[in-house]
Amino acid sequence: MFELPSRALQLRDQVAQFFNERVLPNNALWHAQASAGVAEPEIERQLKIEARALGLWNMALPRLADDEPGMRCTNLEFTAVAEVLGRLEWASRVFNCHAPDVPNMELLQLFATAEQKTQWLTPLLEGQIGSSFAMTEPWAASSDPANLETRIVREGDEYVINGRKWFGSNASHENCRVLIVVGVTSPDAPKSQRQSLVLVPTNSPGFEVIRNLPVFSHHSNTNTHPEMVFKDVRVPVSNLLGSEGAGFAMGQARLGPARLHHCMRAIGECEVLISLMVKRSRERTTFGKRIDEYSSTQEAISLSRIELDQSRLLVQRAAYLLDTVGNKAARKQISMIKVAVSRIYQAIADRTIQIYGARGVTGDTPAAQAFSRARAFRIYDGPDEVHLQTIARLEAAEQDVDGHVGNLNHYLFNGAE
Ligand SMILES: Cc1cc2nc3c(=O)[nH]c(=O)nc-3n(C[C@H](O)[C@H](O)[C@H](O)COP(=O)(O)OP(=O)(O)OC[C@H]3O[C@@H](n4cnc5c(N)ncnc54)[C@H](O)[C@@H]3O)c2cc1C
Repeated sequence: MFELPSRALQLRDQVAQFFNERVLPNNALWHAQASAGVAEPEIERQLKIEARALGLWNMALPRLADDEPGMRCTNLEFTAVAEVLGRLEWASRVFNCHAPDVPNMELLQLFATAEQKTQWLTPLLEGQIGSSFAMTEPWAASSDPANLETRIVREGDEYVINGRKWFGSNASHENCRVLIVVGVTSPDAPKSQRQSLVLVPTNSPGFEVIRNLPVFSHHSNTNTHPEMVFKDVRVPVSNLLGSEGAGFAMGQARLGPARLHHCMRAIGECEVLISLMVKRSRERTTFGKRIDEYSSTQEAISLSRIELDQSRLLVQRAAYLLDTVGNKAARKQISMIKVAVSRIYQAIADRTIQIYGARGVTGDTPAAQAFSRARAFRIYDGPDEVHLQTIARLEAAEQDVDGHVGNLNHYLFNGAE
């Protein structure tokens, strides 16, 4: 039978115990504090201290240096933990395992200078500040980064940034201190070498948050998606991350693990939704039958279980490949899980809403929010279609390898033989 490494199972059990005893019982309190308009509810702050004291910290970062705080889990080990964290939208923050800070920390680990690490990576690892990744632009079809229009122009010892971004998650959160901004430094270079990444402190003159965007009419103070303007924002050239023109390649390095983590968390949330479907369908009766006695309900639950277990195996394999062959070699599997998980996530949330009837579309169950998160997940981190394009391209290249399934001509008959 397939088993995760024993360290993953031990850690998952430890995290699950803390989650069940300390995080989940405070869910209502967290929501009450969050709906009062605070960006970081007091209970979240308190639980962070407790989780850190237990060492349950920075579990999503496999590359931690010896002097950096955290667990040093492999991606495969983290799959088991992330499922537990994914059960509640806010739980990952308690353990400093949340987006977008985790992928931003990975980027800093890979490409930041020693000074940049001291200034930004260390406080992020300590959970003292937040960060944002600002790539998408309202006026450019941003699923193709070659379209980006924000300009980063070198003037002496400074870069001057002009442009408009939106959906830079977390950028307007009160803890956010730094943005990783993607912009064009070399407009005439080949497409993949036009962009660079610069670190922009949120208190830079000329940087302005215009508005926080709702997601399906839902506004959140804890998880913001702002529209932002950069008007003659100046940063020292030492704020360049990596090298000029390498922004596209660095962005790709960030996105592999980010997609993996989103998928892992979604699987955890889907487990909650399946349990809620079973519970509700046992409790209600219509036309003389319990709802779980109808074949339509059984199909909804059974399909959800099949699809979820299939997806989990795909995600575990992608995590294993990320650990063993790396981000680039695992890109087909990463694209596969991004499409597979976002679709089953949406389907499972939709079935849960249906089984809960009118209650399903309210905020009284997690299903409505899960549905909107799943729907958005089919767009962010690359729309489905772009991943399907990647998968098809890589599949075709693999098929060109001689002898994939033997000589195809022997499978084909023209009727003459
Ligand atoms: C909740 C949420 C959080 C986000 N967080 C961030 C963030 O933190 N930082 C950030 O920079 N961005 C973020 N985004 C933005 C997200 O990454 C972009 O929306 C995404 O890359 C798509 O870009 P676009 O919206 O410009 O769509 P476009 O590029 O205009 O694409 C629109 C549609 O065109 C179609 N399409 C595009 N390419 C193809 C193709 N090759 N084949 C077939 N059809 C195609 C698809 O249907 C696609 O959905 C977030 C978005 C959401 C909803």
